[in-house]
Amino acid sequence: MSPSIAIVGAGFTGLAAAYDLRRAGWQVTVYEARDRAGGLAGGFRARGWTWSLEFFYHHWFASDRYLLEWLHEMGLRHKVRFPRPITVVYHAGEFYPFDSPTAVLHFPGLSWTDKMRLALVTLYLRLTPRWQPLEGVTAHQWLRRYLGPRAYRTLWEPLLEGKFGPYYQQVNMAWFWARIHARTPRLGTYQGGFQALADEVVALLREQGVEVRLGTPVQTVETHPQGGLTVRTAAENRRFDRVLLTLGPPYLPRLVPQLGPEQARAWSRDLPYLAAVTLVLALDRVFNPQGYYWYNIPKREGFPFLILVEHTHFVPPEAFGGDHILYVGDYVLPEHEYMGLEKEDLLARFLPGLKRIRPDFSPEWIRDMWVFRTQYAQPVPLLHHSKRLPPLRLPLPGLYWASMSHVYPWDRGTNYAVELGRRVAREMLADG
Ligand SMILES: Cc1cc2nc3c(=O)[nH]c(=O)nc-3n(C[C@H](O)[C@H](O)[C@H](O)COP(=O)(O)OP(=O)(O)OC[C@H]3O[C@@H](n4cnc5c(N)ncnc54)[C@H](O)[C@@H]3O)c2cc1C
Repeated sequence: MSPSIAIVGAGFTGLAAAYDLRRAGWQVTVYEARDRAGGLAGGFRARGWTWSLEFFYHHWFASDRYLLEWLHEMGLRHKVRFPRPITVVYHAGEFYPFDSPTAVLHFPGLSWTDKMRLALVTLYLRLTPRWQPLEGVTAHQWLRRYLGPRAYRTLWEPLLEGKFGPYYQQVNMAWFWARIHARTPRLGTYQGGFQALADEVVALLREQGVEVRLGTPVQTVETHPQGGLTVRTAAENRRFDRVLLTLGPPYLPRLVPQLGPEQARAWSRDLPYLAAVTLVLALDRVFNPQGYYWYNIPKREGFPFLILVEHTHFVPPEAFGGDHILYVGDYVLPEHEYMGLEKEDLLARFLPGLKRIRPDFSPEWIRDMWVFRTQYAQPVPLLHHSKRLPPLRLPLPGLYWASMSHVYPWDRGTNYAVELGRRVAREMLADG
């Protein structure tokens, strides 16, 4: 008999692991709490839209090879689109394109010396394959030193500060190296949206004999007295030879009480993370007529949000029934007030920031809006993070774990979710 496995979570880590384990002949059951697969990269479709929209802004880089290879294997690669949207950086009250050598040359916020240093630092980070020595120093210290205080303050300090909030001076330089080393200005998406991809993968897995149980939250996982593990849902207790959890560290103690409170304390100390909130606005007109897609917002200049993304400068508004889609959001501590506000109150907080960028912006332009939040959005890689990385094998026999906190030195992303899902599947197959 081939081993049976329960995979908890139908995000891209779970889907990729299910794909490989099923192909190896295992009996695979995927449990997903929500009514759809895709996890953090999933999306929704309002009436009149032909594409789904990600709950949180998502794109790929042309260098996302694990994901692109996986799509190729599944015969889905031809549905990836790579437009080249415009990314802008703030300087003295204005935003300027900053995503090509020409744009950098024209950027007024840096001196020629700054630009020269920026070119050398970028070149070094792109060329050096060795990130290990960089994890012993913070990105804050390293970038201030090598880029110089002004360029750091203009370009990358706002990014670190916005993304990591109170932790920003503790993030290690290896994480920053990974951003520069692997990313490209060309950004990709999937025909129909990321949710369409997740749905197509689920259909393929089902065809191959995987049991995908949507809308079925797992309540607990525990060792079975006769070996293996029991997965408990509202409807049943079911025994499996192996279980793979794809949730973040904050969710594990409740799901697997047998891991114990000491383990939970160690993870909350070693694996901090930030939450994310996004207000999605469907506007009846364009927000930025110059076509800016991604704004790098300096929160220290008094903006009430970090994220401003005009999605319909990436995917045309025709995909959304003519709506112009604007994401306005932030990374915050899980207890931040943004995590509890109604969408109208959140809009009221964000409005002054929107008006700074587009002074005639009016709430009357908003045709509809939605708010999405997640407690576990962005793991924080502290100094020497490689020594704090959680294991793929948990201390209960047959129990495995693969989450965004396992992705390192790379920034979490669907590309690395696929890499991780396939890696943990390989480890399980090797363990037999
Ligand atoms: C704000 C934001 C922006 C991002 N931008 C990008 C981007 O531009 N490009 C990119 O590639 N990536 C991006 N990412 C990262 C990307 O979304 C994640 O790396 C990826 O989706 C992680 O997949 P996962 O399967 O590991 O986890 P998840 O997607 O979190 O999947 C875990 C799944 O487990 C389910 N689950 C939870 N509890 C239970 C339970 N008890 N029982 C059953 N199921 C359960 C959840 O519902 C979820 O579906 C972004 C993430 C965020 C938060």
